[in-house]
Amino acid sequence: MTTAALIVAAGQGTRAGGAIPKQYARLGEQSVLGRSLGVFLGHPAVDLALVVIAETDRAFYDAAVPSDHPKMLRPAAGGDTRQRSVLNGLRALKVSAPARVLIHDAARPFVTADIVDRVLGALQRAPAAIAAVPLADTLKRAGPDQRIAATLDRAGLWRAQTPQAFRFAAILGAHEAAVAAGRDDLTDDAAVAEWAGIAIELVEGSAANVKLTTAEDLAMAATALGPGAGDVRTGQGFDVHRFTGGDHVWLCGIRIAHTHGLEGHSDADAALHALTDALLGAVGDGDIGEHFPDTDPRWKNAPSHVFLADAAARVRARGGSISNVDVTILCEAPRIAPHRAAMRARIAEILGVEPGRVAVKATTTEGLGFTGRREGIAALATATVVLR
Ligand code: MG
Repeated sequence: MTTAALIVAAGQGTRAGGAIPKQYARLGEQSVLGRSLGVFLGHPAVDLALVVIAETDRAFYDAAVPSDHPKMLRPAAGGDTRQRSVLNGLRALKVSAPARVLIHDAARPFVTADIVDRVLGALQRAPAAIAAVPLADTLKRAGPDQRIAATLDRAGLWRAQTPQAFRFAAILGAHEAAVAAGRDDLTDDAAVAEWAGIAIELVEGSAANVKLTTAEDLAMAATALGPGAGDVRTGQGFDVHRFTGGDHVWLCGIRIAHTHGLEGHSDADAALHALTDALLGAVGDGDIGEHFPDTDPRWKNAPSHVFLADAAARVRARGGSISNVDVTILCEAPRIAPHRAAMRARIAEILGVEPGRVAVKATTTEGLGFTGRREGIAALATATVVLR
């Protein structure tokens, strides 16, 4: 069963002011449209995506949308009203003959895969389904003097959001019939479906799934995604491995020739072990010994990048991104400085972050303690992650 996403981006967004329509405004690393569209392109149930745009916005569209994505169809031209724009998009989708269509406003960039799941789930039992939230505010009706004339009963009232999901043939038929009947004042596709007598289920959307309308909305959204936003977590790690016979050590994923080796069940990379624990600590997810016990033969002589990559995956599975990591190696020898650039690059590669987010430092302990007596190597690490 083919499912298409129809993203409506043809509005001029004049209420937001600014030089470019709001759907093309930047929000963090992407445009508003790019972010909305990305949720659908990344969703496994969505097979095709088509964006309806104002023809004058073609250059903005080209900059915002990955034209080579296998799910992307060519954009359709918008009409004078939102309703006309959706109809144009539905007509353009006809050749692809999808069974279902999700219609979504580009200006709702905080839609999530969960909301898409819920709407599509409801479409299996209802002819149509839309994301919506129950009204929380008390409603007042104003009189002509802007004084309250009445307080309305909000029981049973919901605010409609998008995505709105329909059987493709049914919603295309409803839109064609509405326009033929001279009804072009309907402000969402659920209203078109209602007019055509299609039953529609309300599905829990999200308070965060707001429509960006004004310049203030855009500024608030940018703040919500900006640096410092989100749940900032810090973790620390510490590890020691003892010197033993050998001719090299592994530190920060780099093989370094040395007069000794390091003893351990895995490759004994104390720096990557400390860093793995720092990442796990930041998200409160146990420690390296719990996830990779040294009693498990699978980890015998294991390369430690496996442990670090697993910790990074655990951070990402919680919606986290790695802000920075910082490693300090304590030893008298080998010398770390000649390997520092390679170590930063290797850690950045394992974590999938820019090298600028990785620091590697080293110090001796002035001949004091077990590192000073050259009995082993110790490593400290901290990691900062942001959960959104
Ligand atoms: Mg260790």
